[in-house]
Amino acid sequence: MTDTINLTIPEKKTIALIAHDNKKNVMLDWVRDNRDRLAAHTLCGTGTTARLIAQQTNLPVRAYNSGPLGGDQQIGARIAEGKIDCVIFFWDPLTAQPHDPDVKALLRIALVYDIPIANNPATADFMIRSPLMEEPYTRPIQNFNASTAARAAAFSAEADNEAVK
Ligand code: PGA
Repeated sequence: MTDTINLTIPEKKTIALIAHDNKKNVMLDWVRDNRDRLAAHTLCGTGTTARLIAQQTNLPVRAYNSGPLGGDQQIGARIAEGKIDCVIFFWDPLTAQPHDPDVKALLRIALVYDIPIANNPATADFMIRSPLMEEPYTRPIQNFNASTAARAAAFSAEADNEAVK
């Protein structure tokens, strides 16, 4: 049985907003349509997306690096630290991206930590209108600390066995 711990997404959420270039106008329209709903939360995003939204809507949006310059990885790291609760990521399925490995890494870490992630406007609409956006939400996550300790102990025992041979 997998050891789990409960992690809670708070009532006021930190939402990361990311849009590839061909999706930036789609993101801007979606944010404008949902401005009041988003204003209740804390916003951040990759460099260009964050600046564009802040300039066009006057919402405060913390800007990380631009996506191709490490912004996706910074957001992934904040997810692993439990500092980002939801992601709206309009990625472009029809254009090759130079930072494709970073994009995949971000999608993967969002699944590992079971955080809500919307990749198109329809899913983002369902997400932002969910009653769960206005209340805390607790979900079980694999207890990585316990599994790390168990793995280190197993490797350590193996190393001890090798030493006595
Ligand atoms: P950008 O990055 O907001 O700086 O354009 C988005 C991305 O390509 O991941």
